[in-house]
Amino acid sequence: MIDLSGQRVLVTGASSGIGAATSRLFARAGAAVLVCYRNGRARAEALLDELRQISAQPHQAFGADLASSSEVDELFRHVERHWGRLDCLVNNAGIWRPNPIDQLDEAELVALLDANVRACFLTVARAVALLRESPHGNIVNITSTAGQRGEAGYSPYAASKGAMIAATKSWSTELAPKVRVNSVAPGWVETPMNVQPFAGGGRDRIAAEIPLGRIATADEIAGPILFLASPLASDITGEILNVNGGSVLCG
Ligand code: NAD
Repeated sequence: MIDLSGQRVLVTGASSGIGAATSRLFARAGAAVLVCYRNGRARAEALLDELRQISAQPHQAFGADLASSSEVDELFRHVERHWGRLDCLVNNAGIWRPNPIDQLDEAELVALLDANVRACFLTVARAVALLRESPHGNIVNITSTAGQRGEAGYSPYAASKGAMIAATKSWSTELAPKVRVNSVAPGWVETPMNVQPFAGGGRDRIAAEIPLGRIATADEIAGPILFLASPLASDITGEILNVNGGSVLCG
């Protein structure tokens, strides 16, 4: 039912986890995908090969640290040179690290806010002009339960996702009516980000606290991202779509 044929979609943090699942799903829906990665060049190139098997659209891969404005500029020069348009931006890149407030590590605080907030702002700022020219222009920011209910021991992460939620709501009216801006808020997802907490029985302990009783797959997050980017969501903007098995209600 969802046909994004010919649309151009930039997915950040796309070489692994939710970003990789999202890239595959958008390619299956007919879109051309730009797999934007930071360190995972080999994984990004393998994913690019997969996308080219899925469709003959002009998929791309590009490496950039999105916390650097000059690298974001290079990314968008690539988009302009190869596509000349952009229909959807999925702001998915991010990091999750502990930083207890009574032992605050300032360098870690800055690194986290750079990766999760600065990167998102720089990317959106550069994307807006292209998105405004598209008849489908929209942004999906990947936030978290943490940005709504907080996360003990991880307050910089929770604050960064809260900032993205506030930015989603701000941009949804600031960029209307040309560009829709929404967010998907996952809870616990099976991705490389969670190898450590899921080890040694952690997965079962965490799943037991989720109302639906299990950890989401990356594909289960990709589906709602595609929905928000699609014509099925044409009257939705400023929405924070909770996709977390009901976790946002607890804690
Ligand atoms: P992941 O670690 O597989 O993916 C995150 C990606 O972001 C990585 O590929 C990483 O290289 C990239 N990235 C980080 N900093 C970057 C930077 N400065 N420039 C460019 N790329 C950068 O983890 P994931 O679980 O797929 O995470 C995707 C998003 O989902 C993140 O924003 C994360 O906060 C959010 N999220 C994840 C979960 C979860 O349980 N996995 C829960 C809620 C929200």
